[in-house]
Amino acid sequence: MALPLAILAKPNIKEVEQNQIQSGEMKKCPYCAELIKREAIICRFCGKELPTIIPKNEETQITKENFSKLTYRQKFSVTEYGYLLSPEDAEVVGKMLGSIVRENDILPFCKANGKKVLSFEQ
Ligand SMILES: [Zn+2]
Repeated sequence: MALPLAILAKPNIKEVEQNQIQSGEMKKCPYCAELIKREAIICRFCGKELPTIIPKNEETQITKENFSKLTYRQKFSVTEYGYLLSPEDAEVVGKMLGSIVRENDILPFCKANGKKVLSFEQ
């Protein structure tokens, strides 16, 4: 009894995808999780405009007062990942959290879109 080829081929496809992501050739769309070219600004699968992928390398410090003004998701990205994101980007992270596959993409996403938090007060 032979296994369908599609099942056997699956892990390899994943490996290829991972290599393409690591080499910087491809990236994953944060909305639909399809693999797209690194330079793409609009996803060819779902048509959404993609967040910038160029790391800003910006750093920030968050005072107690500013921290209290952040959204729930923003606070989460600060405490869990050490990055301050816009409310919209923080929501994207929230959606990525629901998927085991996409959890690996959260930190790169934070690095590309957020400011590195040097210190914060809760
Ligand atoms: Zn997409």
